[in-house]
Amino acid sequence: MKLQEFTSSAHNFEECMKCTVCTAYCPVVQVNPRYPGPKQAGPDGERLRLKDPIFFDEALKYCLNCKRCEVACPSGVNVADIIQEARMKYGKSKPRLRDRILASTDVMGPLVVPFAPVVNFVTGLGVTKAVLHATMGIDRHRTFPKYSSRTFEAWFRRNALKEQRKYDNKVAFFHGCYVNYNYPALGKDFVKIMNAIGYGVELLDKEQCCGVAMISNGMYDGAVKHARNNVSALSKAVDKGLKILTTSSTCTFTMRDEYPDVLGLQNSDVRDNIMLATKWLYEKISSGEVKLKFRKDFRMKVVYHTACHMQKMGWQLYSIELLRMIPGLTLTVLDQNCCGISGTFGFKKENYGFSQKIGSKLFEDIRTSNPEYVATDCETCKWQIEMSTGIPVLNPIEILAEAIEL
Ligand code: SF4
Ligand code: SF4
Repeated sequence: MKLQEFTSSAHNFEECMKCTVCTAYCPVVQVNPRYPGPKQAGPDGERLRLKDPIFFDEALKYCLNCKRCEVACPSGVNVADIIQEARMKYGKSKPRLRDRILASTDVMGPLVVPFAPVVNFVTGLGVTKAVLHATMGIDRHRTFPKYSSRTFEAWFRRNALKEQRKYDNKVAFFHGCYVNYNYPALGKDFVKIMNAIGYGVELLDKEQCCGVAMISNGMYDGAVKHARNNVSALSKAVDKGLKILTTSSTCTFTMRDEYPDVLGLQNSDVRDNIMLATKWLYEKISSGEVKLKFRKDFRMKVVYHTACHMQKMGWQLYSIELLRMIPGLTLTVLDQNCCGISGTFGFKKENYGFSQKIGSKLFEDIRTSNPEYVATDCETCKWQIEMSTGIPVLNPIEILAEAIEL
């Protein structure tokens, strides 16, 4: 595949006025002296790279693609997109076996699910972690997410599909790899809420991994293939008049914005129909179109963590306001700090220390608040926070499902 097939057209690096605000907000610069920072890696570097690709710096691999620089930039420069595009165009390092395994979530899922109890047990052993650390470069301190012994799709086909046909109003659900292979409980809660408000749920025709881990691990051909498949599956749902709802902020952001901005794939006919379930629910409830009845005995003390991609979309407000509608919920909204995992970045031996340092402020804030649960819309933030603080993390949809009166 030729690069220009999947990279987007020229980014707006000329709009940079060199204020360095982006660098002040970059979580990597603060912990890794080898990283040049967004201003230099993005707009400044792009001017040089256009003259001669020899100016490409392999240290750009440390960028988390968290987009905090873009949120901070007063000139609206697509700093992180410029960096990702440079990595795609000029990067020489090829993905290692470890990177391919970590990024191939929908290859690993079907292989592991039939043996989930054994795999979960073995990957939790210290000896297994030591071997993976030494041979594969997966850090020995990392806790692996557990696999489910049945996929969400299998549960849905067997236990929910028939029921969904009873509803006139419907939504489509992009469940993502995490719900399907690791955490079907979240998908079940999504279906429970939708049915409680009178909506049936449809799954997409052949959903695949959104491809975010492939993008960050340099598997661009695979990411484009997945993106094309998903845009086609999403288009079919949109043609049926369905909104596509999600529970993962990262899958949502990737399909809406990374497909066109980083992979150069046109998605304008589906983009505005892809929406996080919390946003959709908040809008339906606040317009009076949907009413929820809450349990009178519900009590929970929660802190909300804004995932980086959630911040980039600006949609944390919907999750927060939805949670605030729940009587009996005590909610504290944390300062917006990166958790440091950035998908597969924090799994790698060479990044683990940086990943923990980046997340340390967030972990400290969470411990100080002493909540029963942390709420967040991103599954990889959940892994990092649970592992680093020992406090359980829930998606807002799970909290809502627990709080409603059926
Ligand atoms: S914040 Fe924006 S304008 Fe300022 S240096 Fe960074 S990219 Fe340039
Ligand atoms: S995307 Fe995140 S890690 Fe990368 S340069 Fe921007 S702020 Fe830094």
